Amino acid sequence: MFELPEYVTLARQLADTVTGKRIREAHLGNSPHKFVWYNRKPGEFKSLTAGKRLGKAYSKGRWLFVPANPGYVLVFGECGGRILYHQSLSQLPKSYHLAIVFEDDSALSAMTQMWGAMELYEKGQELKRKYICDMRPTPIEPEFTFAYFAGLIDECIQTKRRSVKGLLTQDQLIPGLGNSIAQDIMFEAKLSPKHPAEDLSTSERKLLYDAIQKVIARAISEGGRNNEYDLFGQPGGYKRIVSKDTVGKPCHECGNRIEQMKYLGGTCYYCPRCQV
Ligand SMILES: [Zn+2]
Repeated sequence: MFELPEYVTLARQLADTVTGKRIREAHLGNSPHKFVWYNRKPGEFKSLTAGKRLGKAYSKGRWLFVPANPGYVLVFGECGGRILYHQSLSQLPKSYHLAIVFEDDSALSAMTQMWGAMELYEKGQELKRKYICDMRPTPIEPEFTFAYFAGLIDECIQTKRRSVKGLLTQDQLIPGLGNSIAQDIMFEAKLSPKHPAEDLSTSERKLLYDAIQKVIARAISEGGRNNEYDLFGQPGGYKRIVSKDTVGKPCHECGNRIEQMKYLGGTCYYCPRCQV
């Protein structure tokens, strides 16, 4: 599944590659998949997008927005899989969940892995969509200061007992983070996934905040994780510090073996000596 660094990378590449291109024909999936969330029927999608010109793509958290001017916005949300640019129409994959053919014969295709939204809104209506309308600041926005982060912890520990992993990955408290990038953040902060959020001292909160900033900035600068693909079908350059590939191998800080455990709907990878 794409997380914040992959969305930033895709938005940047889309902005550089397809801005200004005019849509000849756009199609919703020819490969049925009940977990793709569409808000238009195929015929409606085709007629509304024909002749539209793409604007500059941008992302927020795990959502990607591509203006289709005049008047519309394409929205991709919470997906994984592939969003690919094809120099020639002949390179379009046989099956896809969404495909756009441009007047210059280049094309875009999207195929999600597990689930995800592929929707078209009248400009402005996308901001009313669930998960977008109430999205909290993401770690790369100026509002995501340490004071904001500390306030977020204070707020969320009042209603529910939460662990550090819960704080990073549940209820869209920090939009854009997922189970994958959160592992490296917890490793960098030297905090166990199960460490109760309410017990975090001010210095631990700061360590966690700094780890979020550091890991996200690095993953963005390296074009996303190396187990996900960019707009041109190339893997990102960010190699995870702890992952299924490092289980049983020595921690690069202390030499203890990296362990794994199932916790909060996903596998955690961690160093039991460094992370407390
Ligand atoms: Zn260690």
